[in-house]
Amino acid sequence: MTESRNVVIVTGIPGVGKTTVINTAVEQVKEKLGETVLVLNIGTEMFEVASKAGHVKDRDELRKLPTSIQREVQKKAGAAIAKKAERGKTIVDTHTLIQTNNGFLIGLPEWVVTAINPKTVVLVEADSEKIASRRTGDETRIRDAQAIADIQIHQEMCRAAAVAIGTITGATVRIIKNREGLVEEAASELAATLME
Ligand code: ATP
Ligand code: MG
Repeated sequence: MTESRNVVIVTGIPGVGKTTVINTAVEQVKEKLGETVLVLNIGTEMFEVASKAGHVKDRDELRKLPTSIQREVQKKAGAAIAKKAERGKTIVDTHTLIQTNNGFLIGLPEWVVTAINPKTVVLVEADSEKIASRRTGDETRIRDAQAIADIQIHQEMCRAAAVAIGTITGATVRIIKNREGLVEEAASELAATLME
């Protein structure tokens, strides 16, 4: 029997535009196929787990927790996602590398990606300067300031992380550029991946 993989992991650094591109791609799939794509967010699942345990009050506190607690929370969130994704086309909106006080924390360690078993890892990228300005322009979130050079390094590290996920799971890895003012264009590439 051919295995069926329902999940596309969409990743990229904070403020690159993942959520914006995903929302548009989901509308495009709905229009073309009449199908609803389930969008899950590891941050949201983690926040549910962590807030129930009394570790945090808002989601931006998550990445400041001791890394041992972040790992425990991650593991529980991964299991919850795998269960929900059994229903149909699913996107997991997530960070692969989280900047902590002690280096990058791997957002999708082996036990989480193996459970999720994605068909594709989509890495959303944009010019580092644009990412910096998108972060400052977004008043809905509390975002950490990061120098342009660090944004660049973070993006390069995300490529390595995406390839690692492909290596572990056999998922394909696709880079999608989210150009300034061209969300629709990036979204149609993501929609094509979902419908493939
Ligand atoms: P996070 O990882 O923190 O959730 P994200 O990658 O999901 O971030 P978004 O919240 O989608 O990023 O976008 C960040 C900001 O950038 C938003 O204010 C959004 O409107 C803006 N933005 C996203 N894509 C583009 C684009 N192509 N051109 C201009 N602005 C954009
Ligand atoms: Mg987002």
